Amino acid sequence: MARSDFSEKFGQNLQAIRDRMEQAAERTGRDRTTVKLIVVTKSLPAPLVREVLTAPCTDLGESRPQSLWDKASQFPTATWHLIGKLQRNKVARTTPLAAWIHSVDSLDLLDQLQAQAERQPRMANLLLQLNISHESTKQGFSTEELPRVLEAAADCPRLPIRGLMGIASQSGSEMQIRGEFACLRRMAERYQGQSAGHIDLQELSMGMSHDFEIAIEEGATMIRIGSALFDGCTQAIPR
Ligand SMILES: *Cc1c(COP(=O)(O)O)cnc(C)c1O
Repeated sequence: MARSDFSEKFGQNLQAIRDRMEQAAERTGRDRTTVKLIVVTKSLPAPLVREVLTAPCTDLGESRPQSLWDKASQFPTATWHLIGKLQRNKVARTTPLAAWIHSVDSLDLLDQLQAQAERQPRMANLLLQLNISHESTKQGFSTEELPRVLEAAADCPRLPIRGLMGIASQSGSEMQIRGEFACLRRMAERYQGQSAGHIDLQELSMGMSHDFEIAIEEGATMIRIGSALFDGCTQAIPR
């Protein structure tokens, strides 16, 4: 499959996802423009990222820090989102390249980010990841821990904390998934008013290929989509 075939198929998938986003927003009386689509490029070789950018899509996500470093240095005009695990020793290389980090999941990491913020003029926007599915394999703070985390974050005025991120159960029923997303929204609403100026829990990063419509109905402001956008494009990926 040539590049132009990739672009054509990707363009069709993108339009279909945008239509579904619009419909999900309409069902709950939301404005479609309040939901940002993050294209997760983790399955894509770097040369094809250009095709995504020309679609045009501006917000791109990677789950591994090294892949983000690689692609963000090749495509610095994109707005890059780190959506997967960030190890402390990778903070210094990641925060200058990522505009958003969705996966702040420990107090240790928060400390490291604070230390980095003292060396860096503009810090990446941060989201606190909550383990809303209660699956032990998933990273993230528990809902019970959140107040303590926000207290710790209140002492880090250089960290722009902009919201919460969560991943719903992969095998859950629609009702369960909906409940998990609603839980994330309620946590943000509950702690929004009590927080210091650098903490503003307006952003809700939730929803992936198989559950983004439920997430939008439950208030997502950012959805992270990979496989549904690249369905049928994979033949274009050189091995
Ligand atoms: C891979 C990934 C996504 C995208 O998942 P798809 O099911 O391919 O849409 C979203 N969020 C995170 C954290 C991921 O790792």
